[in-house]
Amino acid sequence: MDSVSFPYDAPVSQTLFDRASLVTPGGVNSPVRAFRAVGGTPRFMVSGTGPYLTDADGREYVDLVCSWGPMILGHSHPAVIEAVQAAVARGTSFGTPGEGEVALAEEIVARVEPVEQVRLVSSGTEATMSAIRLARGFTGRPKIIKFAGCYHGHVDALLAAAGSGVATFGLPDTPGVTGAQAGDTIVLPYNDLEAVHAAFHANAGQIACVITEASPGNMGVVPPRPGFNEGLKAACAQNGALYISDEVMTGFRTSKAGWYGVDGVAPDLMTFGKVMGGGFPAAAFGGRKDVMAHLAPAGPVYQAGTLSGNPVATAAGLAQLRLLDDAAYEKVDAVSKEIQALVTDALTKEGVAHRLQTASNMFSVFFTPTEVRDYEDAKKQEAFRFNAFFHSMLSQGVYLPPSAFESWFVSTAHDERAIERIAAALPAAARAAAEATA
Ligand code: PLP
Repeated sequence: MDSVSFPYDAPVSQTLFDRASLVTPGGVNSPVRAFRAVGGTPRFMVSGTGPYLTDADGREYVDLVCSWGPMILGHSHPAVIEAVQAAVARGTSFGTPGEGEVALAEEIVARVEPVEQVRLVSSGTEATMSAIRLARGFTGRPKIIKFAGCYHGHVDALLAAAGSGVATFGLPDTPGVTGAQAGDTIVLPYNDLEAVHAAFHANAGQIACVITEASPGNMGVVPPRPGFNEGLKAACAQNGALYISDEVMTGFRTSKAGWYGVDGVAPDLMTFGKVMGGGFPAAAFGGRKDVMAHLAPAGPVYQAGTLSGNPVATAAGLAQLRLLDDAAYEKVDAVSKEIQALVTDALTKEGVAHRLQTASNMFSVFFTPTEVRDYEDAKKQEAFRFNAFFHSMLSQGVYLPPSAFESWFVSTAHDERAIERIAAALPAAARAAAEATA
């Protein structure tokens, strides 16, 4: 951290952060928003348009976080804003079923073949928590398998060796989760099928499900090696367990049908969030009809939510999904490739050892020369170089995820002007990464 200089201050953000820190732990409502890993003051944003965010000090940034994934059409897309305004004008919550929920569920079922039925919730955390409860209720078994470095929200049982903020801050696990809550969680190295087979063997008849990020983005981007997801599915099928693919991050982002649209491996259950909410709190879990039939009120496994299927959130999500046609994904993929090439070029010119890893249009840079296959590999990178790189980009008006362990996200709104600004910022940032010391 010593080698990182903060090229300018942000007085209004600093004042807001000071105020926030008095009334909110750490000054933020979600840990990854803090700049603890990279140092400095988090920027308080006041508005977003297309590929840009404007902070409270009036500075504009090209946004490569996109609200951690959801804003795939960029900020304030006119069609999404219009749908939200129309929905708000009709009322904000009814506590009854409504047509918007049906339409959003139909859209998800139409896009993702393995999803025969879907239940709407308000966050990705709720989706994975509920999917696991359902898997346990359906199979009558207690144990679950997850992978180190995969993040599935802050569900007690899933915080063991998690990615995202847990990885960013190097937390081993978290206090507040009891042995009973985490004791049935088996944590295995990612991309290691032998470990999965051994765990099934050692826990015969005990494992309810394997949950995995469809293609992990929460330890940085670490895609499944060829055959890994297929192997998981087969191992689950052989052992009477359910295969749960967490597509909260990849869903409706990596293709029209998410990562399922890329690798075609059909899970028993899937979880969604982020893109499907259009920037509002909407998420979902769904899958095989015979499994979903176990959910209340159809079946005995209880799950509920006061604001589930909220009419404003479903209107935003539906408007966004309806705009996400083949052309939109072609555009996001093309933008992503262009930025990836610029980043690689700048770091290579400065002789910075790095590895850019991709999963469709998601990508991240590891400051290490070798392939990153799992969380142990990811942790070996020289994160201090990322911190210098991050601050140089920030000072030049490019907003990256404030952590070396997160995916970067782009949108259809990233146009030539935005890409030129990224290109202009990269040489100095690459130099800063090259010169950084631990
Ligand atoms: N699953 C994955 C793969 C995620 O990336 C996240 C959040 O980043 C979650 C679950 C949790 O979603 P939420 O933050 O909406 O609770």
